[in-house]
Amino acid sequence: MTDKLTFGPVRIEEDIHVEVEVAPGWLDDKDDWEALRRRAEIVAKEIKRHVDGWASVGVRSKSKEVCPFCCNDWEVVEEGDGFNMPPGTPLCCEKAQEAFKATAEGASG
Ligand SMILES: [Zn+2]
Repeated sequence: MTDKLTFGPVRIEEDIHVEVEVAPGWLDDKDDWEALRRRAEIVAKEIKRHVDGWASVGVRSKSKEVCPFCCNDWEVVEEGDGFNMPPGTPLCCEKAQEAFKATAEGASG
């Protein structure tokens, strides 16, 4: 007999997946995302064709916004940031800042 009552939640599994990371092919650049997506779709098709026991097989990807000039993450000046630049100005590189300025001038003029 225990004199201390223990009660609380029990953790149960809700969802189990198999993850497959796609390797670039011989001729693909590992940063060529369109080539990797095509390869991922081929791998998904091959899994469907050759493996039993799956409920669904699909290609899923993550994306993020990057600067078209320097490829760093896209970050801009926000109102009240204390920078001596207008809100919306990219922070990554001068080229992006020049393009932003030209676009802003074109829009107002
Ligand atoms: Zn940039």
